[in-house]
Amino acid sequence: MKNNVSRRNILQGLITSTVVIGFDTVCRSWVNKANAAELFVNLPRLDGVLYTDDATREEASDDFGHLVRHYPLAVLKPGSVDDIVKIIKFARIYNIKVAARGQGHTCYGQAQVEKGVVIDISTLNKIHNINTLGAVVEAGVRWSELLQATLPQQLTPPVLTDYLELSIGGTLSNGGIGGAAHRYGVQVDNVLELQVVTGEGDLVNCSQYQNRDLFEAVLAGLGQCGIIVRATIRLIKAERNARVFLLDYDDLASFIRDQRLLIDSERFNYVEGQIVSAPNGGWRYLLEAASFYTPPSEPDNTSLLASLSYTKGAEKIEDKSYFDFLNRLAPTVAFLKSINVWSNPHPWINLFIPATVVEQYISEVVSTLTLADTGNSPVLLYPVKTNRFTLPLFRVPNEQVVFLFTILRTAPLNDNATNVRMLDDNRKLFERNRDLNGTRYPVDAIAFQEEDWRQHFGRSWSKLVNAKRRYDPARILTPGQGIFTSFKNHNKAPW
Ligand SMILES: Cc1cc2nc3c(=O)[nH]c(=O)nc-3n(C[C@H](O)[C@H](O)[C@H](O)COP(=O)(O)OP(=O)(O)OC[C@H]3O[C@@H](n4cnc5c(N)ncnc54)[C@H](O)[C@@H]3O)c2cc1C
Repeated sequence: MKNNVSRRNILQGLITSTVVIGFDTVCRSWVNKANAAELFVNLPRLDGVLYTDDATREEASDDFGHLVRHYPLAVLKPGSVDDIVKIIKFARIYNIKVAARGQGHTCYGQAQVEKGVVIDISTLNKIHNINTLGAVVEAGVRWSELLQATLPQQLTPPVLTDYLELSIGGTLSNGGIGGAAHRYGVQVDNVLELQVVTGEGDLVNCSQYQNRDLFEAVLAGLGQCGIIVRATIRLIKAERNARVFLLDYDDLASFIRDQRLLIDSERFNYVEGQIVSAPNGGWRYLLEAASFYTPPSEPDNTSLLASLSYTKGAEKIEDKSYFDFLNRLAPTVAFLKSINVWSNPHPWINLFIPATVVEQYISEVVSTLTLADTGNSPVLLYPVKTNRFTLPLFRVPNEQVVFLFTILRTAPLNDNATNVRMLDDNRKLFERNRDLNGTRYPVDAIAFQEEDWRQHFGRSWSKLVNAKRRYDPARILTPGQGIFTSFKNHNKAPW
């Protein structure tokens, strides 16, 4: 830290009076140009900007869930990796909490930090290199941007999430699951190398071969041990088109059986599924599968659909470009934004259910589930194979096949009672699944205490604790997950 920076240098490059230039260690508040005369500790000179204006802080205090709010004192829009190193070293000294924020698309404050600093990684958005081995990208790059850059070279990341406007750093902190995960694992299983800033402010390269304990603590590590600033993502050959099959089922048992058959045989490139409302009430099931191809070769529909027991005649088969298929949520999102529903609260729940109990569990859930419970939003159910998962902190049930089950609930605006009811339902559904040895995919909105986290990480808990001790001993990183600092204590932080 440069405490002796000249005043002229400190003020260079400042944009507004709300730009922070120091931290008052007595009052424990940020010092901006307007109150610069007061006692403060100089911030090191930054390439980017640290903001304290209300609008920027307000934005960083919210997320896609719109369910909880924690107001940061400042938001860093880094101009370089060096800025992150400097801010974390500074925060470490003064015990200021820090959280990275990618696109803020988690639902329950995971990227928020009360009275700390949010690092808005979206300004680190360069794609440095793409070749057949992999893509070297900054963590703020969105998957849609990476895909658009790799496709001209007929390359693609092996696994993409359903929505592509998520940051690479954000999904790598969680897992990153999609319809190709039954073949390739989750996105974290397809990372060759990372560059990370630890909670000590050290910039470290890590991979399976170098600093492996950090690599394994950061991938799916919920931001606890380091901030990902750069990643090398494995790439595979991309086909040009996708033939998409939507198959209808009245019956849960047949739907599950066919989904399992498809992932076991790997006859499709992509397998997902939804629980959808039946026209006369109740629920039916929609299997979504895609086969990727490049003309003149074409998928053979007959062998792809052989021995499946969907409702014959109700299937829909459509050809799309590979990109349009992967980006298929974009028109829906544009529509939801146009009718202002995209900004409603989203008390989502995301669980992994063991295959041996999935039929029992889902039957129980749908026997009482109503459209009012989902807010007319999608409910996903699809299987993945756990032997594709290589990272210890990506937690799934201990079975060969597990099902991702998510209710992507939308609540009405200004209706706290519904938010509370949905959150309460989430907790009950989580507990029922936990009692059946299921796990949670923690991008959602479920009230979690430290004891829940201990149980969630299971045999990986000590690994995470040891890594936290080593890489973030002051526990400044990512308090919004509530793993090492519960929200209760977090809110009572002294500054
Ligand atoms: C419409 C929609 C569709 C989705 N579809 C899928 C899907 O198909 N599959 C799936 O797996 N998930 C899906 N998600 C969930 C999504 O993967 C997570 O919410 C993901 O974290 C979002 O990325 P983000 O950039 O918004 O992260 P944020 O919400 O900004 O951050 C998430 C967490 O990661 C931390 N973090 C962010 N960046 C970094 C970094 N660079 N280094 C370290 N920690 C960091 C944050 O502090 C926070 O704790 C979806 C979410 C939405 C809203």
